Amino acid sequence: MENLICDFCGAKDSEENPIISGDRACICQACVTAAHNIMTGVTPAEDDIEEETAPQNEERILLKPSELKALLDDYVIGQNRAKKVLSVAVYNHYKRIFKQTKDEDDTEINKSNVLLIGPTGSGKTLLAQTIAKHLDVPLAIADATSLTEAGYVGDDVENVVTRLLQAANGDVQKAQQGIIFIDEIDKVARMSENRSITRDVSGEGVQQAMLKIIEGSVVNVPPKGGRKHPGQDAIQVDTTNILFICGGAFDGLESIIEKRQGGNVLGFNQVKKGKSDDKNTITLVEPDDLVKYGLIPELIGRLHMIATLNEITEDDMVHILSEPKNALVKQYQKLFKMDEVTLKFDKESLKQIAKQALERKTGARGLRSILEDIMLDIMYDLPTFKGKTVTITKDVVLKSKEPKVV
Ligand code: ADP
Repeated sequence: MENLICDFCGAKDSEENPIISGDRACICQACVTAAHNIMTGVTPAEDDIEEETAPQNEERILLKPSELKALLDDYVIGQNRAKKVLSVAVYNHYKRIFKQTKDEDDTEINKSNVLLIGPTGSGKTLLAQTIAKHLDVPLAIADATSLTEAGYVGDDVENVVTRLLQAANGDVQKAQQGIIFIDEIDKVARMSENRSITRDVSGEGVQQAMLKIIEGSVVNVPPKGGRKHPGQDAIQVDTTNILFICGGAFDGLESIIEKRQGGNVLGFNQVKKGKSDDKNTITLVEPDDLVKYGLIPELIGRLHMIATLNEITEDDMVHILSEPKNALVKQYQKLFKMDEVTLKFDKESLKQIAKQALERKTGARGLRSILEDIMLDIMYDLPTFKGKTVTITKDVVLKSKEPKVV
């Protein structure tokens, strides 16, 4: 066979980078991918824009579980148990992928996907985002309620893989080692006698479709992100090594656990009071409880690691406002600093914001809009405060006073 050379970059034909030859020209796989990205305008996901290229598998430094946990501590307040479970799961997962080939033993380590159970706005998505960002792996986030079985109107489960490939900037190998986060998995639970929610029976079909990609299958991704083009070959993405993190609030799960325990556990009220992680009813969850809730046993069997998250308390909210690396307060302070203005929040103001967010019952998610509302007028006048200090007090939050500017 003749020695083919790519007319675009001069690469030789190889197994890793095969050449496609036409009548008058040849092109290698790498150039096809690059050209495809240019033509489709595929850009890296926001979180994935990094200057350096990802290290190859062999060179990848695997962060130890304790290092992963420390990293999560920088961004996520509380949720210690969930952070630990996730750190161990992620460590095992990437150890399994990156170190597998060097092992002579043929024992296969099963993939451990993760199920995060916790109320809305408690940090489930944030945990997945933080891990993906710092491991430099692509992340696709999907809502289980928007997914349908193939052939139904809606977002086909396999489209999530398409999104992951886009987040990987078209790099199939990178996508195959990425993370897929599927939220609201509890909303596709099938109906069970334990719950009175009436829902579409198709939930089970969605779970079956999810099971297929979680178990590992080859998904044919249309080259033009979602739209089928008859003349173009689909890109094949193997989901075997993709880490799946599923999340859900699982309202009503406590009563299933309590029933199993014969009512011999602490009540839900104590969860709300923010007792330590291990004392909450929800932490006693077992796979059987999830089957009763309406998840299919095969799917639960694939979500080996289960972690529970606590409801965000008022104290947590105050910490969330000011402590994480990109805490909202720090973001505003940075914005102000650009105009040479010092911004201060007194303790009571933070407590008041936390109180208002708690009333919204959307977890820590409510904090941003409350703060944006308070800051709008101040931001409007910001350039006139150059060289001064603006202090936000409880009265400013309550909108009964203007902020102090000195
Ligand atoms: P969900 O549990 O519904 O997935 P998210 O992770 O999307 O919640 O949280 C929404 C927002 O609230 C996050 O972007 C983050 O700003 C904030 N948040 C929620 N929980 C925490 C937490 N434990 N620590 C820090 N910020 C948090």
